[in-house]
Amino acid sequence: MDDRMFRNAMGKYVTGVTIVTTELDGEVHGMTANAFMSVSLNPRLVLISISENAKMLGKINASKKFAVNILSEDQKEISMLFAGQIKEKREIEFDRLGELPVIRESLANISCKVYSQHVEGDHTLFVGEVTDLVLRDGDPLTFYEGKYCEIAKLVDIN
Ligand code: FAD
Repeated sequence: MDDRMFRNAMGKYVTGVTIVTTELDGEVHGMTANAFMSVSLNPRLVLISISENAKMLGKINASKKFAVNILSEDQKEISMLFAGQIKEKREIEFDRLGELPVIRESLANISCKVYSQHVEGDHTLFVGEVTDLVLRDGDPLTFYEGKYCEIAKLVDIN
């Protein structure tokens, strides 16, 4: 198995797309991430995984807080911006949720304080305790086999 095959296998798992945001010394930093999951209901915990190469790692290490913004299908462009796939600098206006900047018009804004962190290989897993939430209706932006996708229709097959 080579790295390409491992990546291709992981790409078979369809995910939503989030932007993780944090703020340090009044400066907002955002990063696109799909390594996100719910961990626990009591207490309410979620998890993100951040690469050792990402600037976001040092920011969350210092701020000890982050927000996860779950993107709608209309937010592909902002996802590309915060993944560095669009190179030009853009002025983004953020909403606020408690102490954190959040992405406007997301399906969910979830603010967290760092509960624990674990360095595993070349990533750090941050477990966040959820402190606040905002929800909106809409369809999700998804990511599959390394490409953004829209789900035309989510059909209940129960
Ligand atoms: P930078 O590369 O400096 O920032 C990212 C981009 O956001 C830059 O273009 C920057 O200009 C812009 N930006 C940041 N803050 C602001 C602001 N306040 N206003 C305007 N623009 C701003 N990596 C992971 O570690 N974990 C993951 O789970 C993960 N999932 C991904 C999922 C997808 C679908 C994609 C496309 C990428 C994913 N990545 C993930 C890769 C990650 O998004 C990129 O490597 C990213 O560039 C790393 O960001 P950085 O923190 O190093 O900061």
